[in-house]
Amino acid sequence: MAVVTEKAYAKINLGLKILGRRVDGFHDILSVMQTVDLCDTLTLVERPKEIDVHCSGIEGVPDGEKNLAYKAAALLKKEYNVEKGVSITIQKRIPVGAGLGGGSSDAAATLRGLNRLWKLKITESELLNIASSVGSDVPFLLRKGTAVASRRGETLHYLKLPKPLIYVAIYPGFAVSTEWAYKNRKNDLTSGDKYVNFILSLKRGLTDKELPFQDMKNDLEQAVEDRYPLIGEIKKKLLSAGAIMASLSGSGSTVYGLFDDPSQARQAAKTLQNSTWSVFVCRSVG
Ligand code: ATP
Repeated sequence: MAVVTEKAYAKINLGLKILGRRVDGFHDILSVMQTVDLCDTLTLVERPKEIDVHCSGIEGVPDGEKNLAYKAAALLKKEYNVEKGVSITIQKRIPVGAGLGGGSSDAAATLRGLNRLWKLKITESELLNIASSVGSDVPFLLRKGTAVASRRGETLHYLKLPKPLIYVAIYPGFAVSTEWAYKNRKNDLTSGDKYVNFILSLKRGLTDKELPFQDMKNDLEQAVEDRYPLIGEIKKKLLSAGAIMASLSGSGSTVYGLFDDPSQARQAAKTLQNSTWSVFVCRSVG
């Protein structure tokens, strides 16, 4: 029986600007996104006809048809008239409802893995098209790396950074609904917004710019912080532990701190770990 394994990396949003709601119900956004080495592991085993998905490691993740990995596999099977099936096992490590894109990344890893397992030889651009039908963040998670995501998140402008970034990511033990965060957001988009200007200059081809970490505001953060004051407290703790910036990833609930020095990051993680939080030291990949 043919077997393939794939890693599904989490993503972190370095800033998130929401430009407005589109007619299709999605939002136009601007965000610098980066994959990090916190990951789920998928094992794909060929089987006749059917698709099945089973998760372990974290409770409450749906098995079967409700899983985003299933949706990705079913779409690929239909679009390319594949007769074969697959049994997908996901060892979850990425917290769920955490703004780290875990479900979307499992879907992206499924597409990469099935292209190999089913020997489909689909080009990257075709696979990116399938990915964008599964979800807005799936194309980015398919290719990995660091990119400015725009429109729904599926239009990507890749960046090369001089060195990997080091994060301490803290999942506070509860999830935040992405839908709720978007509905309750407090935008502060102004014409002189430094983050937006930075992204526009990158898109014009000025690629040698330093990432403006201090200007990377997340438009969902204020609403989430107002409802869950713990988010603000975690940010303060990360900054006092030496982070050069601290922010919510996506709609949360994960808060991350960016560190210059890996040993300082490890020390901060050790100090901040408690019985309710999951604390991860991670670095950019891709
Ligand atoms: P995003 O940052 O993309 O908005 P998130 O990281 O906040 O997403 P996920 O962990 O991807 O959220 O999960 C969101 C929902 O998707 C969960 O409620 C879960 O039930 C469902 N889901 C479906 N498939 C998966 C999967 N493979 N892993 C995690 N959640 C999944």
